[in-house]
Order: sequence, then C-alpha cells, then structure tokens
Amino acid sequence: MKAFLRLLCAFGPQRWWPRVWRGGNFRDEVVVGAVLTQGTSWSNVERALRNLEEAGIRDLEAIHNTPDEELDLLLKPAVYVRRKVRTLKELYPIIYGRKEPPKREELLKVFGIGEETADVILLYAYGVPVVVLDGYTRRWAERFFGREVRDEELRNLLMIWRDTFYLKELHALLDELGKRYCRKVPRCEDCPLAPLCRYPHTTRPSGL
Ligand code: SF4
Repeated sequence: MKAFLRLLCAFGPQRWWPRVWRGGNFRDEVVVGAVLTQGTSWSNVERALRNLEEAGIRDLEAIHNTPDEELDLLLKPAVYVRRKVRTLKELYPIIYGRKEPPKREELLKVFGIGEETADVILLYAYGVPVVVLDGYTRRWAERFFGREVRDEELRNLLMIWRDTFYLKELHALLDELGKRYCRKVPRCEDCPLAPLCRYPHTTRPSGL
C-alpha cells in the first residue's frame, strides 16, 4: 500500500502501544489505557496511569481490588471516571488469568466498550490482526477515496496484510496524519499523501 509506506517514511515507525508504567503487566496496561483514552487526550491518560502506578496499582486485579472512591480520585485526569471504573471492573473477569484473547463479541458486551476500544485491545494487547477504525481514519478515508466508505468496506480495503506490525503502525500513522494534516480543516499542501489523495483534486483552494 503506497499510502502506508509514504506515511511510514514521513513520520517514522510509531511503535504503539506507548508505555507509561515502569514494569507492571503490559497487557493490562494496554487495556487500561484503551479504556481511559476514550473521550480524552493521551496526556490526560498518562497522568491517570502515573497516579495508578504511584499508588502501586499496575494490573487489572489491583484495580478490581481497589475501592471505586479511591479509583475515582486516581483516575480523575482521564475524565468520565465513574463510567471508566465500571468498564475496567467489568473487564477484569474476561481478561484476568486467561492466556487466550477474549472474543470480540465478549468485549462488546462489556459496559462502555465499543468497536474501537475492543479492536485496540485485541490488536495491541493480544496481537490479534484486526483493523482499528476511529474518527481520524474515517475522515481520512472519505477524503482519500473521494466518497463515503462504510466500515466493513474500509476494513477490507485496509487489511492488505494480516500482519500485526502493519496493522499497529497503520492505526498509529493514520492518527498522526489526522493530528498533523488531515484535520477538520485539512492541510493538503504539506501532506505526504497529497499525490495519492483525491481530495485536493476535487476541491478548489479556499479563496478562489
Ligand atoms: S491530501 Fe488532504 S485530504 Fe488527503 S490525506 Fe492529506 S490532508 Fe487529508
């Protein structure tokens, strides 16, 4: 996929999932981070993860055993805390002590888990080859292909390689593109995907 290679060359490997805890359980850290990042910035998530670490809480079992009131305070930077605490506690029996990945349908039954969070958990915590779709990716796709692209079609279009390095990097690189160039008001003139993208050729420059 030319677009993927262009993004990789322009931004370099993103190497997600970003770690915050020094030690602790990596899989659980991904799960906790994936829930906490809903509706807030990653810098807020980092602050909440650091609060947990300083309190000696570095896995889902410790979260499960911590009273909600204490978690409310520790996770405060990550907003919507009550809801997220409930989600994390409901995830515990599905994830803790199991080596095999949970089924996507199991994750989707958990309070507060939507498709994006479920797929982030499967890909980054368990290495299951899935395409993660989020707002950045959908916005990019509509502009890049020059038409509305439904989720199922987009997953098929992006599943070029069933390879976890590719899929992890793809999601991270498209998010980077969405933050730097393919914003609400796109910056096509500097974008590394401009030669491949339909959008700059189908819209007039502003002011003309
Ligand atoms: S060229 Fe413009 S519309 Fe296309 S991906 Fe880049 S910023 Fe988005």
